[in-house]
Amino acid sequence: MKQQRLLIIAIVLLPFIALAADNKQAKKANWNKIISKLPDYQFTGQSKQLPLDYSYDALNPVIDSKTMEIHYSKHHAAYTKNLNDATASADIKSKPLLQLFSEMSKYPAAVRNNGGGFYNHVLFWKLMAPKSKTGKPGEKFQNAINQTFGSMDQFKTSFSDAAKKQFGSGWAWLSVDGDGKLFVSSTPNQDNPLMSITEKRGIPVLLIDVWEHAYYLQYQNRRPEYVDAFWDIINWDEVTRRYEEALNALKTM
Ligand code: MN
Repeated sequence: MKQQRLLIIAIVLLPFIALAADNKQAKKANWNKIISKLPDYQFTGQSKQLPLDYSYDALNPVIDSKTMEIHYSKHHAAYTKNLNDATASADIKSKPLLQLFSEMSKYPAAVRNNGGGFYNHVLFWKLMAPKSKTGKPGEKFQNAINQTFGSMDQFKTSFSDAAKKQFGSGWAWLSVDGDGKLFVSSTPNQDNPLMSITEKRGIPVLLIDVWEHAYYLQYQNRRPEYVDAFWDIINWDEVTRRYEEALNALKTM
């Protein structure tokens, strides 16, 4: 009797299970489409470091020139080389990097770690600027911040908390989700919100590197000081541009 009852329950539930699986599939397909609309889709598994828009000492005193030099010319250079090696050996070097992110679990850990390492730093360099060139948040972006977080200060607290509390190496992010809403998150290692393996997916518009290599020479163990100082060197024009770019990618869905 018990077995019979279980069988009936299973038969009744089957269509719902199938439907849930279908929905999951549809959602995944949607992200594939969204990322294909992003200009960063141009990066492939054979990528090059872009030149910095400023000199190593330009972000002083928030980030010292030695940290910038080592971070760009050693750490980022290594991620870039290792990404190219990893995609060559997996025979996926011509695939768009964002597409690899979107089907991340299919590829070796070296593609995930170095793909994130390459791409996250490309964003990071672009989203910082010397104090005199930081611009200001655009009106539409500012309104979205107010709507989501209450105010710019509340957003800053939320983002800073995510950066300070990320355990070990990683990043904190402000991203746009599939519905066009802003949200704050953090990721371990070199993961990012575009990757299919992250808890909540989104298009990044701002990020901060909280690996020790990003601040240790200057701040040692005082990560919170580095995070609080970071607000002085954010390229708000670029944040705003990326926010609008994200909305445009979603609009064409
Ligand atoms: Mn880094």
